[in-house]
Amino acid sequence: MNLSKFPRLRCGHWPTPLEPMPRLSEHLGGPELWVKRDDCTGLSTGGNKTRKLEFLVADAIDKKADVIITQGATQSNHARQTAALCAKVGIECQILLEDRTGFEDFDYKLNGNVLLDRLHGAKVSQRPGGADMQAEMESLAESLAKQGRRPYVIPGGGSNPIGALGYVNAALELTTQLNEMNLDATHLVLATGSSGTHAGLIAGLSILNSPLKVVGFGVRAPKEKQEQMVYDLACKTAALLGHEGIVDRQSVFADCDYVGSGYGLPTPAMVEAVTLLAQTEGLLFDPVYTGKGLSGMIDWIRKGKFNATDKIVFLHTGGSAALFGYPETFGLPGYSDS
Ligand SMILES: *Cc1c(COP(=O)(O)O)cnc(C)c1O
Repeated sequence: MNLSKFPRLRCGHWPTPLEPMPRLSEHLGGPELWVKRDDCTGLSTGGNKTRKLEFLVADAIDKKADVIITQGATQSNHARQTAALCAKVGIECQILLEDRTGFEDFDYKLNGNVLLDRLHGAKVSQRPGGADMQAEMESLAESLAKQGRRPYVIPGGGSNPIGALGYVNAALELTTQLNEMNLDATHLVLATGSSGTHAGLIAGLSILNSPLKVVGFGVRAPKEKQEQMVYDLACKTAALLGHEGIVDRQSVFADCDYVGSGYGLPTPAMVEAVTLLAQTEGLLFDPVYTGKGLSGMIDWIRKGKFNATDKIVFLHTGGSAALFGYPETFGLPGYSDS
């Protein structure tokens, strides 16, 4: 594979740390647990989108774009990281936010990631839940092009083969760390949404012939749809790197039983998981992705779905800025009785 032929705008702090979670392992009485700290990428409170955006924004610059358009849910971490990197390189950023939850409170609509989108100078506009966001972006791009601008559209979550290259690179980075630390990890666990993170990892680990089993916990789509999205994008990403046909469908696995009533809607198990990590490891997980992924992993451990000798790496994909959009979910004083 040759990643270096793709333009990359380095802005993250690499490699992100790989750390043990001894208090969580002990609390659960389960297997050895580790965390890969992609919440520490360094870009505007960090997160997994930084890896994708290094390739996507480099591609936009290569194509001489003067405005970047992207979309996400109201509390999108992807939108926030895109706004930050656009600010850093001096390209205008236009963000379309879809109201997927119907929450009307101040914090959800204006605090957390939304506050940061605006602070980074992005132009933010709202769209109703269920809108065709890709079509919305394309029509905005068209009208900007008519004004003589050069728009570059980044899909939701940065999930296309160019963006997924960031997680092919993460597969290399993690494999090197595991080798250097003499850590024979058995599983890599993550929250999977728009699929680019999961797909990039599958493509990278397949090319490396890694024995790591990847377990994705879905946050939105049902299992069949999620696995198909991940598989399709992993195949395209591997092909982009000259490894067509290397991805085995069997290597793509998603458990989508921990979504609750929908994307971005809190579950009791998510609240328990986020609180547990904050109080055993001092780590900030998020209500939409990592909290639900972790609730799945905790449930698997409690149900004995892992072996006692397994060594599990949880990929912390970031998102803690969204906590400030969900204060009442965590029963904070002044919010819990409202
Ligand atoms: C976007 C996001 C994910 C999911 O990554 P995808 O590549 O969209 O599947 C997981 N965790 C956090 C915190 C995110 O912001």
